[in-house]
Amino acid sequence: MQEKKTILIVEDNVMNREILNELLSDDFETLLASNGLEGLSLMEENYKKISIILLDIYMPECNGFEFLEKKSEQSIFQAIPVIVMTASNTIEDEIRCLKLGASDFLSKPYNTEVMKNRIRSIIHLRETSQVLDRLEKDTLTGLNSKEFFFHQAEEFLSKYPEQEYDLICSDIENFRQFNDHYGSTKGDVFLQHLAKQLNEVLPDILLGGRVGADIFTFLIKHQEKGLPEDKLKRIVGNEKPSAIVKFGLVPKVDHALSISTLINFARTALKEIKGHFNNVIGVYDEEFHKKQQRIHLIEESMLPGLQNREFQVYYQPKHSLKDDTIVGAEALVRWVHPQMGFVGPNIFIPLFEHNGFITQLDMYVWEEVCREIRHCLDIGFSIVPISINVSRMDFDLPNLADIITGLADKYNVDHSLIHIELTESMCSENPELIFSTCKKLHDSGITIELDDFGSGYSSLSSLSSMNIDVMKLDVSLIRLASKTKNYSLIRFAIMLAESMKLKTVAEGVETEDQATALRVLGCDYVQGFYFSKPMSQSDFEPYLLEFESSKGEDYFNRIF
Ligand code: C2E
Ligand code: CA
Ligand code: CA
Repeated sequence: MQEKKTILIVEDNVMNREILNELLSDDFETLLASNGLEGLSLMEENYKKISIILLDIYMPECNGFEFLEKKSEQSIFQAIPVIVMTASNTIEDEIRCLKLGASDFLSKPYNTEVMKNRIRSIIHLRETSQVLDRLEKDTLTGLNSKEFFFHQAEEFLSKYPEQEYDLICSDIENFRQFNDHYGSTKGDVFLQHLAKQLNEVLPDILLGGRVGADIFTFLIKHQEKGLPEDKLKRIVGNEKPSAIVKFGLVPKVDHALSISTLINFARTALKEIKGHFNNVIGVYDEEFHKKQQRIHLIEESMLPGLQNREFQVYYQPKHSLKDDTIVGAEALVRWVHPQMGFVGPNIFIPLFEHNGFITQLDMYVWEEVCREIRHCLDIGFSIVPISINVSRMDFDLPNLADIITGLADKYNVDHSLIHIELTESMCSENPELIFSTCKKLHDSGITIELDDFGSGYSSLSSLSSMNIDVMKLDVSLIRLASKTKNYSLIRFAIMLAESMKLKTVAEGVETEDQATALRVLGCDYVQGFYFSKPMSQSDFEPYLLEFESSKGEDYFNRIF
């Protein structure tokens, strides 16, 4: 048998109270109070088991209105429904009761069946709505559940197409570590505080939801001035322990997009600012959207592009400053993309370095270079050494040196015709691996060029451990010297290279003045628009031929 529900009867009239008790005690557990005060204290003691309250209005000590007022002050009592018993009450009384939270009225004299059914249906209604409430609400934070947030937000967007909304996602950085370190109870407390603070700090909130363990989402009215960044920066500053909270914002959401797409947008913008200490709001605006679309297009088409040979190797000559002869060339990749057209490496290389595709592309370029050298040798051109670029990620290949020498051998290319270009910054992570690979390559006869020297990270100790043969002076050094007419840094770099018995190549040389200054300072070679831009294979071969006749002893006798 089902357990009896409990009814609290608050009625000062003894006879009425007893009649009610008589009528209901077969079906319900009854608690009896003879005035409002007694009613309140019975409610406090038993609120967990009371399913409904029957309340008289006119009573001494504390009347029904006062009872309702007191009851509404505490949230734990609010869920208990109240039926007001009326005899001679006016409509004003009834309205007042409804305003104070009463659910229904029963008039005296009572009809037993009507009364019992009404009580049952109100109890049932309340219980179902509590179940629903639990589905709708996240019990920890009081925010909407994910499903309910999605449902409500989609309603908002479709119902009010003319309204402008912003969508915000919050994320706690390294929340898993926070939980591991401080325990999940502290984690829960932190989440509760964060939800509370966000409810206070975010303007014009329409809806908030918890859509992931530590991810909250808010739909707010569009804020022309953006979010209150300062307040958001300090949002959990006083919590102990604390964590960094970041936000992704999609301003003026597109009503045609689904909520999950919008949340993905906000989270993508959020990811962009991860690790940037001072930046707490990532904004998914039009510009960001275009960039994302470009990234998407590139990632989608990179593999077919490689298979369809859309990547082309260009060659940029390096010339001797002694006699202007061609002494080498750098292989630089370009992408002839079916939709985007001719694309330079600055657009796609950083992305490929991020997603790992760079290694596949580099191996393709290296092979293309070996093929081209073989081709030139076969048709009788005296080809110059070609340098290939090596990315930091390429060192994750288990046998980088063997792959490069293996390709040279496959095309029967002398190792002296291959140079590799790498940067000092590669040494910051796993220097031993870089040093040993460099040594292996160097021992096999491949020349090592240190790229972008002077562009930032410089460590003299790695310089001496890398088996370097050539130092390439970064374009920024040339530009600065040329602009300030002060070549002292370049002079210093050349002296350093000389003392380490390294050759120097200046990159990005565009003018005669720059070339002259570099020649005077003793720089060996230049690579830049002054001599030639990078060119396609079909332009490079005639270029080689043109300079062949003028090749000086430098080309044959030096490391180039
Ligand atoms: P980098 O290795 O420093 O290459 C030199 C860049 O400077 C090239 O840009 C070249 O076109 C440009 N440059 C040369 N002379 C001048 C000049 O006089 N003025 C100006 N303004 N620029 C000049 P590019 O070809 O756009 O390549 C950019 C970067 O992309 C390269 O910088 C390199 O880091 C990377 N990269 C290019 N090809 C490959 C590749 O096959 N593999 C890898 N891993 N990276 C590559
Ligand atoms: Ca390079
Ligand atoms: Ca460079």
